[in-house]
Amino acid sequence: MPTSQPGAPAAAGTLHVVATPIGNLGDLSARALETLKTVDAICAEDTRHTRQLLSHFGLERPLIALHQHNEDAQAAQLVQRLLGGESLALVSDAGTPLVSDPGFRLVRAARAAGLRVSPVPGACAAIGALSVAGMPSDRFVFEGFLPAKASARRERLARLAAEPRTLIFYESAHRIEESLDDLVAVFGAQRPAVIARELTKLFETVLDGTLEDLRARVAADPNQRKGEFVLIVEGAGEDADARIAEGQRLYAKLTEYLKPSQAAKLAAELSGAPRKALYNSAE
Ligand code: SAM
Repeated sequence: MPTSQPGAPAAAGTLHVVATPIGNLGDLSARALETLKTVDAICAEDTRHTRQLLSHFGLERPLIALHQHNEDAQAAQLVQRLLGGESLALVSDAGTPLVSDPGFRLVRAARAAGLRVSPVPGACAAIGALSVAGMPSDRFVFEGFLPAKASARRERLARLAAEPRTLIFYESAHRIEESLDDLVAVFGAQRPAVIARELTKLFETVLDGTLEDLRARVAADPNQRKGEFVLIVEGAGEDADARIAEGQRLYAKLTEYLKPSQAAKLAAELSGAPRKALYNSAE
């Protein structure tokens, strides 16, 4: 049986970080179920949501709300409970806690107190999508949600345009179209991508094509705009990478003499890189 780390009392409890399903309840592992059954209490992002999950499995445990608004304050108290010998589980509404979800502050505080923090791995939308995308997967970059504001979103994308590793984004139904528009504008229409929608659920759909294709398919079919999405975008190939690097170099030079919009237009023409990949790239 694993013990707590040096620094914590021998009788200290463990914080179990437990993944829950992202749709199909059959994805809750046997070990996750056993852990949730035996801990003293479960820290949950939304206690109502987690209560429903537990009741589906015939479980009833004390729940503690732990979300982005109270995590800092709660973390210290939860660490005290762990030091006092209670064992706790941390879950989020869906998938793996801490992955675009709360929990990082609690885990950091528990580790700083020398407590044992143990994962019960399971569903994660990013990894599920990557596993079916057919994109290079030895190295990838998880970017979570893009910024909601258009200018910040384009700026973030411009910084990623030359990234050679496969890129993974989370997206919601109300921003999928805008994000696809910006991806086309910044990464270029021809970049291969995959949209993984409603994974493990009734309307699971995995579409692949160029960014332009995918944008057109989502625009043409309202069903493709419903639900939860993971966007996977192939990394910049050596050609695109070199074009963008050259474009950014030209842009930086030309802005010494021209307005940013003129510099971006000219640098894009000369390098063949998408203009928006250059326009927001300068500090
Ligand atoms: N912690 C979760 C995980 O491990 O994947 C992610 C939580 S984040 C708040 C929610 C986002 O994950 C959604 O907006 C969507 O981008 C993605 N997501 C969650 N479930 C999904 C599913 N079944 N299919 C596709 N994407 C999903």
